[in-house]
Amino acid sequence: MLVAVSAVAILCGWVIDSSLLASGLPGLVAMNPLSAVLFILAAAAMALTSKEAGQRITVLRRGLTAIVALGALSCLLSYLTERPIGADVWLFGAWTGENRMAPNTAFHFLLFSLALCLAESRSPWARRWSQAPALAVALGAATSLVGYAYGAQQLYGIGSYIPMPLNTAALLMLLAVGLIALRLRDSVFFVLICDDAGGWIARRLLPAAIVVPFVLGLLRIAGERTELYDSAFGAALMVVTTIVLLAVAIIVTAIPMSRADAVRRKNEAEIKLYSDIVRHIPIGLTIWRLDDSASDHSLRLVSANAAATDLLGVPVTPMVGKTILEAFPAVTPAQLATYADVVRTGRCRELPVLHYGDERVAESAWSVKAFPLPDHCVGLAFENISQRIEAEHRIHRLNDELELRVEQRTRELAAANRDLRQKNQENEMFVYSVSHDLRSPLVSLQGFSKELTQVGQELQTLLAADQVPAEIRDQAESLIGGEMQQSLKFIQSGVLRLSNIIDALLRLSRVGRIEYDLRPQEAREIVARVVEAMAAELFDRGVAVDVGPLPPCRADATALEQVFANLIGNALKFLDGGRQGRIEVGAAVDDSAEATDPPAVTYFVRDNGLGISSDHHEKIFQAFQRVHPKHAPGEGMGLAIVRRIVDRHGGRIWVESAEGQGSTFFFTMPGGTIVEDGPARGIQVQLKGAYHASRTDGDLVGGRR
Ligand code: ADP
Repeated sequence: MLVAVSAVAILCGWVIDSSLLASGLPGLVAMNPLSAVLFILAAAAMALTSKEAGQRITVLRRGLTAIVALGALSCLLSYLTERPIGADVWLFGAWTGENRMAPNTAFHFLLFSLALCLAESRSPWARRWSQAPALAVALGAATSLVGYAYGAQQLYGIGSYIPMPLNTAALLMLLAVGLIALRLRDSVFFVLICDDAGGWIARRLLPAAIVVPFVLGLLRIAGERTELYDSAFGAALMVVTTIVLLAVAIIVTAIPMSRADAVRRKNEAEIKLYSDIVRHIPIGLTIWRLDDSASDHSLRLVSANAAATDLLGVPVTPMVGKTILEAFPAVTPAQLATYADVVRTGRCRELPVLHYGDERVAESAWSVKAFPLPDHCVGLAFENISQRIEAEHRIHRLNDELELRVEQRTRELAAANRDLRQKNQENEMFVYSVSHDLRSPLVSLQGFSKELTQVGQELQTLLAADQVPAEIRDQAESLIGGEMQQSLKFIQSGVLRLSNIIDALLRLSRVGRIEYDLRPQEAREIVARVVEAMAAELFDRGVAVDVGPLPPCRADATALEQVFANLIGNALKFLDGGRQGRIEVGAAVDDSAEATDPPAVTYFVRDNGLGISSDHHEKIFQAFQRVHPKHAPGEGMGLAIVRRIVDRHGGRIWVESAEGQGSTFFFTMPGGTIVEDGPARGIQVQLKGAYHASRTDGDLVGGRR
């Protein structure tokens, strides 16, 4: 358009006889009117080239191109034959006089018409090659323009012929660039608009490669003309500056390029990594494109990994390009809808258990995950879960069997427990009745032995009479006062011992039979009562009792008191006479105990007495077991009773001790909560005379004042 308008303006210049309009600048050669006409025709032909080619347009375009070619050819031939056969002469000769179309101008028009001809050809090869004459025109025009800029006539004129005018060179340049731009896709300059590294480099370096030498050349000539420096210096300066500027341009371009290249290599490595993963992962992967978003059936296989083939048992890669139903005919409409839905909504979907099988694929259970991918694609990641499901079923069956077995064992255990309880009760009843039955013969034994003592005394009175000879009296008295008296003492102490054992047995059997009244108990109050009851003996033996904080528990009050009384009593009984006795009662944290709510409480009674060797730690809880029989009297029944009480409360009892180093008895009781009326207070136990309670944190301290 610009070319046509300029050419029209130049023609007008000829019509109104304005040399400035015809030449562009004062003093320059004017453009020949034929050139102006050919520019208008060439621009029109080019404009038609860019349109959709209808029959008429094609004819018109070809006609215009032919006119341009003939006009230019006639001028060239005129120069060659030196005859006035050029269209410029016979059309405008009378008007223009000496001014003719320059031979290089005519040649460029001829080249341009060739370029137009090839550009509209049907053959892609010809279209691609239309760029060559167009480029030649652009190069020739550029040479002429540079010639004008540098004042080098040889560049825009041939010998003595009229030179190519400046405006002709400029318009030829515009035409050539326009034609190249029209067919940019087929041209080497397409790289300039590419959105890649090549395009980026070309866009940065090409302007520098054109502008830098051009401007530097201008500066060089300007300097030489003003005699600022001579030609050699100017040439050297221009070369150095060109090298420096182009080198800077190249380095500045290369640095970001090399960074981009590093990023590209990293990305490529990552892509390779992922593609290796996809290739080797034991999960089947297939990618499907939804060709028609309105049709679920239009899903077409794009790609698949090796695992897909392994899992399905059929080669999947040959199915690429097939629709989903061609590849897997048994896919249900519901499954198709799910996959297509993933493409439409862009959301992942999961089919946890899907059954699929056809003529080639064995019937199996599959777990499928569908995820959206770019370009209307959906990825399907699938696994064969038949074995897993089978294993799960097996585990379920085993679990059911196990539960049945556990139930059966629990029932058996409950029955055994019932049995055991019954036998225990029978034993206790037996012990009770035997002990009870033994009582009356014992009482008889005691009564008769007393009677015998009395008889002995009466016999001694009778022997005192004078009638009894002295010899007999002496003998009888020695028998009655000696052997008989001693035998009677043995009988009585044996009876006493037997009676104590029977008492202990009755106590033990009572522990098993008695009904407990379980309720929250304030252990510190119970301990205070026990210590108070033993105050006199503690005082006599100078023993200190230290009671730490004792949390409440849930127990029968009498039974709990019995336990503390027994343990504190034993601690007192088995103190070491060689050192000052010390007894400590407290509560400990028992990590081994199972967590209950409220948590179980562990109490302890510690002494610095004789201690127990480790062989006896278990035995002492059995009936009639004694470690220090000579040290203190007893039947060895106390700890057996204590264990029975603790057992019946669901707790346990154990001892930590070493011979000569004191003992600590621990026992656990179920936890209990006591609702306090007021703030927690210390137990104040006033022990008779010598003992006092001095601590207010719930502890008792015994000691001489
Ligand atoms: P008894 O006190 O009648 O002997 P026990 O069943 O209470 O019966 O105790 C069994 C034995 O355990 C005791 O004879 C004693 O040897 C040992 N024993 C119990 N408590 C202690 C203790 N605190 N220190 C050392 N030995 C102990």
